[in-house]
Amino acid sequence: MRHNSPDLPPHSHSPTRRSLMPAIFVGHGNPMNALSNNAYTTAWSAIGAALPRPTAILSISAHWYVPQTAVTAMAKPRTIHDFGGFPRELHRVQYPAPGSLELAAKVADLLGPGLATMDTGWGLDHGTWSVLMHIFPHADIPVVQLSIDETREAAWHYDIARLLAPLREEGVLILGSGNIVHNLHTYSWGNRKVEPYDWALRFENVVRKTLSSGDFQPLIEYEKLGQDAKLSVPTPDHYLPLLYILAQRQKDEETSFPVEGFDGGSISMLAVRIG
Ligand code: ZN
Repeated sequence: MRHNSPDLPPHSHSPTRRSLMPAIFVGHGNPMNALSNNAYTTAWSAIGAALPRPTAILSISAHWYVPQTAVTAMAKPRTIHDFGGFPRELHRVQYPAPGSLELAAKVADLLGPGLATMDTGWGLDHGTWSVLMHIFPHADIPVVQLSIDETREAAWHYDIARLLAPLREEGVLILGSGNIVHNLHTYSWGNRKVEPYDWALRFENVVRKTLSSGDFQPLIEYEKLGQDAKLSVPTPDHYLPLLYILAQRQKDEETSFPVEGFDGGSISMLAVRIG
């Protein structure tokens, strides 16, 4: 649901505001969403249709959670099927978007000397392609992935993400892909519709309210949010991509939720759009 704020007055102090590419966090959920046609995938298509065409996409996916900061630096990133136990048709999916050595180099440059390694072994994992198949189905926009360094604290991720903000001025879409609530131990597999857990709803609500307040510090320090946070974020991998997107917010920018809902009781499908 977009909550539109009134247009900026003609003599706004931020004349460049309109040219900033929005930044988007998407809850990707079940990999089968790649092949599905449901309320989430319809909303993802609408996200793509509502965006200006990006010059390139920088994706921060929960599924590239490794002990280093790396950027995919290849002309043709492979489609990685990084899951098990799913139907063969999901393993056949290809998302043949080109890479961008130029964007990879720019990201490394923005992050500062010696931090990011140029990677030629990864590619596009399902955190990236399962949603991009719906957002940009033609796979004709260059995509680069940035890994999440699992050895670092949440605040460190937020801080380095802020260094990426200039990319938005160049039309680069910064995309975070994870899930704000992601507990697979309690997840109900299968098609039967189940109600979300109370703790999952409560945590998502706290996140929404904090997002709307514009003060993101409690979300960076999410581990202090108690038992609901522990159950909702049992490991940081699916949560941290959100911080990369929040870090993009410029003063007075709008925050909206273009996708809402829960899957299997304990996966929040909430999407967050900045700008
Ligand atoms: Zn995932």
